[in-house]
Amino acid sequence: MPTFAKAYIASSATAPLQPGTIERREPGEFEVQIAIKFVGICHSDIHTARGDWASVNYPVVVGHEIAGVVEAVGARVTRHAVGDRVGVGCFVDSCRDCANCRDGEEQYCLAGATSTYNSVGRDGLPTVGGYSTSIVVDEDYVLRIPDGIPLDAAAPLLCAGITMYSPLRTWDAGPGKRVAIIGMGGLGHMGVMIAAAMGAEVTVLSQSLKKQEDALRLGAEHYYATSDPSTFEILRGHFDLIINTVSADIDVDEYLSLLALDGTMVLVGLPSKPLTQRAWSLVSFRRSIAGSKMGGIRQTQEMLKFCAAHGLGAEVEVIPASKINDAYERVLASDVRYRFVIDADTF
Ligand code: NAP
Ligand code: ZN
Ligand code: ZN
Repeated sequence: MPTFAKAYIASSATAPLQPGTIERREPGEFEVQIAIKFVGICHSDIHTARGDWASVNYPVVVGHEIAGVVEAVGARVTRHAVGDRVGVGCFVDSCRDCANCRDGEEQYCLAGATSTYNSVGRDGLPTVGGYSTSIVVDEDYVLRIPDGIPLDAAAPLLCAGITMYSPLRTWDAGPGKRVAIIGMGGLGHMGVMIAAAMGAEVTVLSQSLKKQEDALRLGAEHYYATSDPSTFEILRGHFDLIINTVSADIDVDEYLSLLALDGTMVLVGLPSKPLTQRAWSLVSFRRSIAGSKMGGIRQTQEMLKFCAAHGLGAEVEVIPASKINDAYERVLASDVRYRFVIDADTF
């Protein structure tokens, strides 16, 4: 029997999110039903709810930083049990059979991973995200949250945490590496903590000096305001790796000039307009520009273990559901410290 769950729903690109009711299927034999406790507000939720990217099938319920407790399991579930603390991230299924799925890189599934929202599941129905009181997900796409991480601080790890952990691992952030994070928001602040825990020398490049104290407390060694033109003089040719979390139009050439020989800028921010850069910015010092999308299930579990071992969790401001629309405005104004997390009891 399907159950009803409370949710916050976007009915168009311009309408504020509003409370409503959704249906959740009964868990299938390999599925887990999760009572959601907290759900983070990722900037991707805002891009989707506001129709910034490709087509959105309204009404849509967004939310892919989900932390909760298992409340029911299907007959053949072996990985999770009722009462377990679990999380769900950006995707809830994939083909499991392509080369990338077999390599544990399900986010790059060649058949297209099934996103947690605004996608279509195997049952042919739209996927409905985590701004709600419960969700039903295949056990293989559900993560275990280590006991040491409170659920509110854990929720943002399911997207922001893994989206930063994965490129930091791929491009070998560690001792002797100079890593810059552009944008001290939800992703950025996790990047600072994780890169510092990996042993890298971390610099934050933020629009202003407002978040300097916090960045240094979270593990950054240096902090520069990009509104100050001297920043680009002082740091020219300095970094091995730059992770760009910004979703606005920025002068990519200016930031590429901060890379050392063989340095890489990894894009994780997703502006709606194309980015441009001059060939010279790359050619001059054999620099690269790359992209990275979340991380696979195995690596997400590894990231959660890493965060627990290093005592890391997101810096959160827990809000009731009635404040979601205000929180969206504050995220858009770069006024978030550093992730809004919705208390699911208030849906
Ligand atoms: P966020 O909390 O809004 O953080 C973005 C930060 O970018 C802001 O806090 C701000 O930092 C900086 N920024 C904003 N406007 C700027 C501007 N005009 N110029 C320069 N810097 C600016 O967002 P988020 O949740 O971290 O997400 C960031 C982006 O990553 C979004 O586009 C999101 O969709 C995308 N994303 C991608 C993936 C992936 O898999 N690749 C996963 C999750 C999210 P300062 O105040 O410090 O300047
Ligand atoms: Zn996200
Ligand atoms: Zn696949």
